[in-house]
Amino acid sequence: MHYGYEGKVAVVTGGSSGIGLATVETLLESGARVALCARTPGRLEDVAAVLKRDHGEENVLACALSVLEPQAVQSFAARVEERFGRCDLLVNNAGQGRISTFAETSDEDWRAEYELKLFSQIYPTRAFLPMLRAARGAIVVVNSLLALQPEAHMVCTSSARAGVQNLVKSLSVELAPDVRVNSILLGMVESGQWLRRFAEREDQTQSKAEWYAALARKKGIPLGRLGDPREAAAAIAFLGSKAASYITGAQLEVSGGLSRFI
Ligand code: NDP
Repeated sequence: MHYGYEGKVAVVTGGSSGIGLATVETLLESGARVALCARTPGRLEDVAAVLKRDHGEENVLACALSVLEPQAVQSFAARVEERFGRCDLLVNNAGQGRISTFAETSDEDWRAEYELKLFSQIYPTRAFLPMLRAARGAIVVVNSLLALQPEAHMVCTSSARAGVQNLVKSLSVELAPDVRVNSILLGMVESGQWLRRFAEREDQTQSKAEWYAALARKKGIPLGRLGDPREAAAAIAFLGSKAASYITGAQLEVSGGLSRFI
C-alpha cells in the first residue's frame, strides 16, 4: 500500500522493532525519508543496515538514544534537520506496557510508568515541533485501548495511557491549525512485547501459533487473531498522510474489534 509520502520526512521513535519498524518500512515504501531511534545500538544498527540496503542509504537515518533523555532527543532533532532539512511526521511510538495490579505496583513503578508514557510524548513533540510547524505536519501517537478500557492487571499502564489520550486532545487544539495530532488505540498486535511474553509462557510445549490463538480466544477478539504490526503501521501512515488532512484530535482503534464501548 502506498500512502503518498514523496518528498516528506518522517521520524519514528522506537523504530527498531514491532510496530515502529513496520511503520518505518511502510513510510519508506510510500516515498518518505525516515529517521528512527531506539536505545539498543546493536539491534538498531542491524535494522538500519537492512533498511538502507532495501530503500537506499540516503533515505534512512538511525540514531541510538532514549526518548526519555531530553538532550539526546534535541540532538536527534538537530541531526534530522541537518540531514533532511525538515520533518513532516512524528510518530511517538517508543515504549512498552507494564503488567501489574495495584497491589504489585511500587511507587517507583508508578513513577517510571508515568515518566515513560508522558515524557515519551513530551520530549519528542517539543524537539520536533519547530520543524513540524514549518512543514504543517502531523503527529501520530501510538496508544492503547487501555486508555479508555482499563484492565486491573495493567493498572498503572492503563491510567498513564488515559493521561496520554488527554494530552493528544489538548495538543490537537494548541497546535492547530499548523500541526495535526491524532492517535491510534491498539488492542493486541504481534510484536517484540508479545514475543517476550510468549517466551515466558507457562506451558513451554505450546507453539507460537497455538499460544497466539489461545490468547485471541481468551481475550474474545472478534476478528479472532492478534494484529500484524503492518496493520498498525497502515493506520499510522494514513493518519499522517494528506488523505487525513481534515482529521485532528481523533483516535483510531486498531484492535480487531476488542473494545466494548461505543
Ligand atoms: P516492541 O518491543 O516490538 O518495540 C518497542 C520499540 O521501542 C523498540 O524499538 C525499542 O527499542 C523502543 N524503545 C523502548 N523504549 C524506548 C526508549 N525509552 N527510547 C527509545 N526507544 C525505545 O513493542 P511494540 O511494537 O509492541 O510497541 C510499540 C508501541 O506500541 C509501544 O509504545 C507499546 O506500548 C504500544 N502498544 C503495543 C501493543 C501491542 O499489542 N503490541 C498494545 C498497546 C500498545 P529499544 O528497546 O532498543 O529501545
